Amino acid sequence: MSDFHSYASLPFYPGPVSLHPAAARALSRDYGPPRMGDDYLRLYGSVRSRLQKALGTREDVILGTGEAMLVLWGALKSLLRPGDTVLSVGTGVFGDGFADMARAIGCRAVCISEPYDRTISESTLQRVAEAVRLHRPLLITAVHCETPSGTLNPLEALGALKKDLGVPFLVVDAVASVGGAPVRADAWNADCVLGGSQKCLSCPPDMCCMSVSAAAWERIAEVGYAGYDALTPFRGAAEDAMRFPYTPNWWGVAALSAALNALEEEGWDAVFARNEATAKLCREGLVRRGVALWPAQDAVCSPTVTAISVP
Ligand SMILES: *Cc1c(COP(=O)(O)O)cnc(C)c1O
Repeated sequence: MSDFHSYASLPFYPGPVSLHPAAARALSRDYGPPRMGDDYLRLYGSVRSRLQKALGTREDVILGTGEAMLVLWGALKSLLRPGDTVLSVGTGVFGDGFADMARAIGCRAVCISEPYDRTISESTLQRVAEAVRLHRPLLITAVHCETPSGTLNPLEALGALKKDLGVPFLVVDAVASVGGAPVRADAWNADCVLGGSQKCLSCPPDMCCMSVSAAAWERIAEVGYAGYDALTPFRGAAEDAMRFPYTPNWWGVAALSAALNALEEEGWDAVFARNEATAKLCREGLVRRGVALWPAQDAVCSPTVTAISVP
């Protein structure tokens, strides 16, 4: 790896990752019409309650058919009205991307943007506190694992600040950490934590999930956004097959269920420890070969994705 120039033309894609063999087997089965209805709801309900654990919440969890971007847009469009103020805390591409999305739907976005090789720190929190007092945002956005930066933002303190300062909502993108690192929606005071199937859960890019706090459901009902990415149709959908929005995606949910089975069998603590150990090995191996890591010294490296500095 002495000459990086030969790698300069390597295309880098954001995924998907390899399928878990159990997920692949689940995908190859037929879940034809006789299996719709209540059977589907049982499977959906089981995946939903197991994702509650993965997302660290006792609140509601919904599962949608589509890439994670579906719930990212769905969350913002369902919680926000044009003119609302959003405080976006960004330490990378996805973090600052929330501000662009908020602006695209007519909101005012205030950005606390850190260099992309850093993670949320004391000084970030000070800037957040000042911005909250000055701009009174309705909602704060943040990203747990900043995939392109290979970093993992600590969110406890941000969540505590959100609560102390009385900001109504916190939305967290945990797409690249859910299933691979501890995600703690409730401990972070996060109203919506968003995840996808094709990163740490080793499934195809066709499912997304999201925790929804009771306060968030109230706000969503108030805003009344309608659209394919709207969240309202999913409220209570898990209880009634006749009310289930759209075609049940048996394949996607069955694959998620199979992947979750495998992770649960291994044990969540063991899964997290394995990812930490793998990432550490990866970082040490790279550094030994003279490759600089992208995250700054005092940033938190993600256990789920490793980013290097390409000269
Ligand atoms: C991959 C990713 C997304 C979006 O995923 P899609 O597959 O494009 O839906 C959002 N946020 C983060 C941090 C990601 O890594």
